[in-house]
Amino acid sequence: MPPKILISACLLGRPVRYDGKGKPLHDPLIERWKAEGRLVGYCPEQAGGLPTPRPPAEIEGGMDGDDVLAGRARVMGITGGDVTEAFVEGGKKAVAFAREQGCAVALLIDGSPSCGSGFIYDGSFSGTRHPGFGVTAALMRQAGITVFSDRELDRLAEYIDRSS
Ligand code: SF4
Repeated sequence: MPPKILISACLLGRPVRYDGKGKPLHDPLIERWKAEGRLVGYCPEQAGGLPTPRPPAEIEGGMDGDDVLAGRARVMGITGGDVTEAFVEGGKKAVAFAREQGCAVALLIDGSPSCGSGFIYDGSFSGTRHPGFGVTAALMRQAGITVFSDRELDRLAEYIDRSS
């Protein structure tokens, strides 16, 4: 049985993003892993009960997912609603789903307050990036699931080849 990869559902083109669209990742490695039956799509924000479309959200104050999990920061929608609980709930469900499916690794889209693993936005809704993990990516890492961003396909391919 090939090792499975939990992938952000929007990277498979599923229309789950805040704007009601997907963000399909077109790459021969993705096609190969699909054909090998390795990819398992999941959207933590939908799993946490948020609607689609939904107002964009960011982690406040230049903090990141680890700060949210430690109670030092909240996740706020652009219109002011506090969506922290839905983000944490969805992230926990994503970790449980990854375990059920036997995924030791996750391929998550960067920049998202849930799925980001290299950078996220700083809470000012001004497009300002800073290094950090989204809530789901932080939970995955705490659970021992190795997270790769959509900019790290080659590193993930090396990891998969070593584990196969
Ligand atoms: Fe994509 Fe993750 Fe946002 Fe869902 S939570 S739309 S999978 S980036």
